[in-house]
Amino acid sequence: MQDTFKHQGWRMQMVKQLREKGIFSDAVLDAMSKVPRHLFLETALDYMAYEDKALPIRCGQTISQPSTVAFQTELLDCKADMKVLEVGTGSGYQTAVLCAMGLRVFSVERQMELYDITKPLLAKLKYRAKCFLGDGYAGLPEYAPFDRIIITCGAPEVPQALLDQLKTGGIMVIPIGGKNQEMTRITKNGDKPEDLLIQHYGDCSFVPMLNKTVPVDRKTKLLND
Ligand code: SAH
Repeated sequence: MQDTFKHQGWRMQMVKQLREKGIFSDAVLDAMSKVPRHLFLETALDYMAYEDKALPIRCGQTISQPSTVAFQTELLDCKADMKVLEVGTGSGYQTAVLCAMGLRVFSVERQMELYDITKPLLAKLKYRAKCFLGDGYAGLPEYAPFDRIIITCGAPEVPQALLDQLKTGGIMVIPIGGKNQEMTRITKNGDKPEDLLIQHYGDCSFVPMLNKTVPVDRKTKLLND
């Protein structure tokens, strides 16, 4: 678990490229220049960790590519100390970026194997996120309301429970669609549907946000049953 000069050099290069690709938020770029992405991947993928690529993690899932993490985080428009709900902890990389920005992060993952590996990894690296094993469609009502909600898997539609858990004035960033999705930002200006400001930011491709009816894998039973 080392962060060598070689990794730091690759990381600076990655951040430079993110800037060239149009990411302008210093808060996001600063955080991404600090978080050691290679430590969230299998060692064999170490040499690719700072390329702008989505890469495989366990359970057939993927760590989002750095430019997607940067873009989604920039769209979230956070201020330090805000309370943020993340759906899809996965490798924990996005979680760590949010923590590095000084946010209070609550992250939900439905795959037990990922939860079991990622929760201690984040703690070991001193990222103080609260991790939960559960169904992101339900959110975390006991910790609501949230200033921001970020969904890191493709949702067929906006889950109403998550909208309900967003503060008035809060922002949700969510890829909406089936196989391919549209990156969408929803600003909740009030409780009525007409109070939602919905903005679209182009096509994207995430692993699907699955509901309880889809088995987690061949061996384990459904979560929350
Ligand atoms: N943010 C992650 C992205 C992982 S991919 C990272 O930086 O690595 C998306 C993750 O969403 C997967 O781990 C998948 O298991 C999880 N996921 C899919 N549907 C979910 C649901 N309903 N609730 C919680 N997590 C879900």
